[in-house]
Amino acid sequence: MGIWLSENRTRNIVVGVLLLATLAFFAFGDWRFVWDKGMRYLLSRQDAIFTQNTGIYLIGIALVLLIEIPLLGWPQSSLYRLCHPSKSTVVDLVCFAIGILKIGGIGILIFTLGLADIALKLLDPIIPKGVLSFSNPLLELIWLMVAVDFCKYWIHVVQHKWKVWWELHKFHHSAEEFNVITTSRDHPTDEAAIAVALAIPVALLGGKADQFLLLSVLGAMHAGLTHSMLPWNFGWIGRWILVSPIGHRIHHSAIPEQFDKNYGMIFIFWDRIFGTYYGGALVNQTVTVSENVYNKRSIIWDYIECPKRMLLALFGRKPAQPAE
Ligand SMILES: [Zn+2]
Ligand SMILES: [Zn+2]
Repeated sequence: MGIWLSENRTRNIVVGVLLLATLAFFAFGDWRFVWDKGMRYLLSRQDAIFTQNTGIYLIGIALVLLIEIPLLGWPQSSLYRLCHPSKSTVVDLVCFAIGILKIGGIGILIFTLGLADIALKLLDPIIPKGVLSFSNPLLELIWLMVAVDFCKYWIHVVQHKWKVWWELHKFHHSAEEFNVITTSRDHPTDEAAIAVALAIPVALLGGKADQFLLLSVLGAMHAGLTHSMLPWNFGWIGRWILVSPIGHRIHHSAIPEQFDKNYGMIFIFWDRIFGTYYGGALVNQTVTVSENVYNKRSIIWDYIECPKRMLLALFGRKPAQPAE
């Protein structure tokens, strides 16, 4: 029957959606803008790799990697895992490389067919800018950190509760071990969805580019720490203010009583306020997710399977059981 009408309904749906999205993209989208953007990512790659902020971030990650060795012992440390990578760690390494090389934008462009870029471009002129900003730079920085983290908390709740988005976020949760750089393990489509969801609040909050850059570097370093196996709960600070490594490890737990707990990114008090804090004594020693289909085949398979499952969930269909 040719490629347009296969016997496989799943394939028909995926091909149909991709074709419609492609048509919409070229009919209504500013494809030249997207092309320029893609080229800019490619051409600026060399500059982007060596920015000061990338250096600071890498130093932060390196410090966590080194601190782990005496605390956990060499065979349990992330550095050991990175030197002897499992399939889960290989996926993390690829995601980390994409992030450091600043080519994530190309992945977003490919996996969303430019729709995320178009959505951001369409939203840009209609959102009022900076109506919720402060004039004092320090107050503004603290406000940005708290307000953006509040939005990220709720986005994270939706990522778990809405099964369509969960299929994208599940890629992050499919990590079977923490090795600091697991923080980078996100599917480009998930990153695109987060960027679109954050576009309106971020525009309303205002803030300057260097403030966001500083916050994102600090946030990424903290996220490296919380994706390590360091046995730190930060005491009362970890119970009431900041997400600790143990706090986030619980979020990645396979133990049922720890499901859907500790959504906070930087601050744990959102979980306290909204009733999603895990207050039990159990500390999980492993991380994974139920019905994990990832880390078994090639990274290309994982990258394609994730948005495919998202589309299937969107149409209320179950994915076929992959052959082992
Ligand atoms: Zn999550
Ligand atoms: Zn995580």
